[in-house]
Amino acid sequence: MTPMSSEANGPPTVGVVGAGLAGLAAAFRLRSRGVDVRVFEAGRRAGGMVRSHGEGGFLAEAGPHSLSRPDEAVRALFSEAGLDDRRIVPDPERSARFIVRDGRLIALPSRPSGILSTPLLSLGARMRLLAEPLRARTRSSSEDEGEDESVADLLRRRGMGQEIVDRFLDPFVAGVYAGDPERLSARHAFPLLSELEREHGSLIRGLLARSWRGRAKRQEEPGSAPPIFSFRDGMEEIPRALARALSGRIHLETAVTGLTPDGDSGWRLHGAHGALDRFDRILLALPAHRVTALELPGEAAAALPPLSRVSHPPIVLLTLGFPRASGQHPMNGFGMLVPRIEGAEVLGALFPSTLFAGRAPEGHLSVATFVGGTRQPELTSLPDEALESLVRGELERLLGIRQEPVFRHLARWERSIPQANVGYGEVKAAAGQLERTLAGVYIAGSWRDGVSVGDALGSGLAAAERALESDRSGSV
Ligand SMILES: Cc1cc2nc3c(=O)[nH]c(=O)nc-3n(C[C@H](O)[C@H](O)[C@H](O)COP(=O)(O)OP(=O)(O)OC[C@H]3O[C@@H](n4cnc5c(N)ncnc54)[C@H](O)[C@@H]3O)c2cc1C
Repeated sequence: MTPMSSEANGPPTVGVVGAGLAGLAAAFRLRSRGVDVRVFEAGRRAGGMVRSHGEGGFLAEAGPHSLSRPDEAVRALFSEAGLDDRRIVPDPERSARFIVRDGRLIALPSRPSGILSTPLLSLGARMRLLAEPLRARTRSSSEDEGEDESVADLLRRRGMGQEIVDRFLDPFVAGVYAGDPERLSARHAFPLLSELEREHGSLIRGLLARSWRGRAKRQEEPGSAPPIFSFRDGMEEIPRALARALSGRIHLETAVTGLTPDGDSGWRLHGAHGALDRFDRILLALPAHRVTALELPGEAAAALPPLSRVSHPPIVLLTLGFPRASGQHPMNGFGMLVPRIEGAEVLGALFPSTLFAGRAPEGHLSVATFVGGTRQPELTSLPDEALESLVRGELERLLGIRQEPVFRHLARWERSIPQANVGYGEVKAAAGQLERTLAGVYIAGSWRDGVSVGDALGSGLAAAERALESDRSGSV
């Protein structure tokens, strides 16, 4: 590999480790500011958890299916990467979200007033929801920095009761984290809830205020980003567009094994076959468990134990394509979530062919089913055929799909979404400590700044800005 220019005789050089969304966004931003950047990726392709697979008119996603409400910095990144015209949005008439109750799909109310009559909850639970704004303000997790609580504890503390935790919160948490509401931290996994409680003294009052504000904003700015979207050829259009702009600067199948100081302020990356290049700055955009696997200078050791405790439950995502037939549920929505209390063997399923155009050929539909997570990790080690038969059993029971699949795509994630469990503040603090200890090394990734696609991209952009800032201030 050709040696790169160093700070003394040209623009700074930055080595980015990991070509998932965080690493690619960081490298794209650094490149657009004239930085000499190289990306090292262990895998054969860029994109990390984002992979789209098209075949015979079907399009399956191995990871994320959509993204929602990215912030301004991420929207600007999409524009610069030429992605605005590639965006596709769901038909608002067909974007209901279903939750399973007693083996039946029930649409979540689309308006707050629908809560009064939803068959998803008993009359008692609905009354508890309505009474929440009237409850006195209690200690809020976000006000008391010393305390952390699970998101289930937060809802119970607000008087919502176990039925709301079991029937509403649990499936929602399974849909976002494949995680456990009794363990996920309210403050770190659902910062919005903590913020609503802090600002409004009530979760329901806060949610209503937010929904009215959002509606008013959309009316004022009809052209603003849609709430949920994907891209014509799938989510992989994001890493493809970013990687195109970094052409010749991404080194695939080049796992980094460690870094050592080089000179006064630089770093040398190492790979399985010896030393790689020297860089003025390093940006690590790896999962937490990969950061702890790196050989790092001794002074980093104190920050690593919290990172090694981040858990990533396994998930299997099986997408099946079927001919449309009578007797099937119309699947006129985003997908269905299954509460643990239902005793099913799936966490839920998305309906990609309802949601976005171009996901299944004419006369066909596709269903992407999630299995495993913290709820049933053992199911993910079943062989392919057993998994398919388990999923088909549940699709028949819940959606009336009896046909033989004509398309199948299986994605296995041994370590999926990082769980921001109670006590996660330690992990975030450790990321900051690593950056302070290893001067000139920056950390990005979904485990640090949030698990959504928008969060991961934003995390990369923010880390790139920190690296640029240190350059301007002359400190590393
Ligand atoms: C099944 C599933 C469904 C999801 N659904 C959604 C969704 O619908 N909406 C949403 O917003 N989000 C969703 N997410 C979350 C979102 O996809 C991720 O949070 C995001 O893609 C993570 O990006 P990242 O760059 O932080 O990490 P990663 O994608 O994990 O990227 C890290 C990269 O580092 C590389 N790497 C690892 N070790 C080394 C090494 N030693 N040297 C060099 N490279 C290395 C890896 O190969 C990988 O490419 C989903 C995730 C999963 C798994």
